[in-house]
Amino acid sequence: MADFYFLCIKFTGMTEVLDINITKVERSKLNDFNLQNIPFGKYFTDHMLEADYENGEWKNIEIKPYQPLLLEPSTSALHYGQAIFEGMKAFRNQKGEAFIFRPHDNFMRFNLSAQRMNMPEVSEELFIEGLRQLVDIDKNWIPAQPDHSLYIRPLMFGTDNMLGVKPSDTYKFLVILSPVGAFHAAPMKIAVEEKYTRAAPGGVGFSKNAGNYGASMLPATKAKQKGYDQVLWTDAFEHKWLQEVGMMNIGFIINNVFVTPALGDTILNGVTRNSVITILKDMGIKTEERRINIDEITEEYKKDGIQEIFGMGTAAVISLIEELKYKDIVLKFDTNNFTIAQKVKDKLNEIRNGLTDDVYNWMFKI
Ligand SMILES: *Cc1c(COP(=O)(O)O)cnc(C)c1O
Repeated sequence: MADFYFLCIKFTGMTEVLDINITKVERSKLNDFNLQNIPFGKYFTDHMLEADYENGEWKNIEIKPYQPLLLEPSTSALHYGQAIFEGMKAFRNQKGEAFIFRPHDNFMRFNLSAQRMNMPEVSEELFIEGLRQLVDIDKNWIPAQPDHSLYIRPLMFGTDNMLGVKPSDTYKFLVILSPVGAFHAAPMKIAVEEKYTRAAPGGVGFSKNAGNYGASMLPATKAKQKGYDQVLWTDAFEHKWLQEVGMMNIGFIINNVFVTPALGDTILNGVTRNSVITILKDMGIKTEERRINIDEITEEYKKDGIQEIFGMGTAAVISLIEELKYKDIVLKFDTNNFTIAQKVKDKLNEIRNGLTDDVYNWMFKI
C-alpha cells in the first residue's frame, strides 16, 4: 500500500505522494456561473475525485470532470445502507490564497464512521492529498465574498452488486465540491422531540452515516408542519436528556457558562462544536461538557439563567434559537442579546477568512 502511494505524478509538475490520474474539463462551467447568492449545495464545480476499493486496496484514483455514476440497481449501499460522508469548507484569504478548515479532523471522523459501518478506511494521503489537489484544480470556484465558501463533500458507499446481506467487498470514495453563499438563516424555532429518537447507546449516532439523515426526515417534517424549524433530539429512554438540534450540535450559555452535551455514542463530534469550545476557553468563558436535562433548562429559564441557545455545524456555523417548545412550555429568547454566540461566530469567520492570526493552526493551505 505504502509503495503505491509513493509513486509520483507528472501532472502538477511537483512531486506528489499520491498517484492520481487527472483529466481536466475543456471549458470551465465557471464562465457561465455567477458566484453571488448561491443556494446551499445546488451547484457543483468542474471536477470530482473518485477512487475504487477492490481486493483490499484503493485504486483507480482519478480527478475528472463532474459526471453521473453508472451503478447497477443491485448496488449494495442502496439496499443495506453502508454509506458515510463528511462536510467541510474551503476559504480564500485577502491575498487570494486558498485554505481548507480543519480537514484532518474530518479525515479522522470519516474513518471513525467507516469503522462503525464496517467499511474500509481511507489513507490520509488519499483523503487529504486527494482533497488538496481537487480543491487546487477548482480553486477559482472558491467565492471571494465574505461568508461565502466552497463546501467539500467526501463520501463513501458499498458497491457490490449482490443482494446477500453482508459487508460490501467493494466501495467507491468520492469528493465533490459545491460553492455556497452566505447562510443568512433567520433565528430558529425548535420543538423538543418526545417521540422519535435520533441516536441510542450502542447505535450509530456518533457516525456520519447516511441512514441517520434518512431517519431524521420524518420527525423534522412533522415539526415543520407544526411551525418549527427543527427538533431538539433527546435520549431514547426518557426523552429528557438533550442530544443535538437537527443535524447540529447544541450549545447554551447558562449563567455565563457555556454548556453542551458531553460526547459519547449518541452525539456527533462536531468540528464546529470543538472550535467553539476552544475559542470560548481562550475568551475566558467557562465551558462544560456534560449531561443536560430539559427540566434544568426550563427551571433555569424561569430564573432568567438561560442567556443564549444555538446550534453549531459547518453549513450554518452558528444558528441562533429564538424559541424552544417542550410539552406546553414555550421558552422565548431575544437573539439580539446573544453576544457570546455572535462573538465566537465573528472570531471563527475572521480565522477562516484570514483576517486574524491562525493561532490554532486550523487553516490547511492548498
Ligand atoms: C455533521 C454533523 C454535525 C456538525 O458537525 P461539524 O463538524 O461541525 O460540521 C452535528 N451533528 C450531526 C448529527 C452531524 O451529522
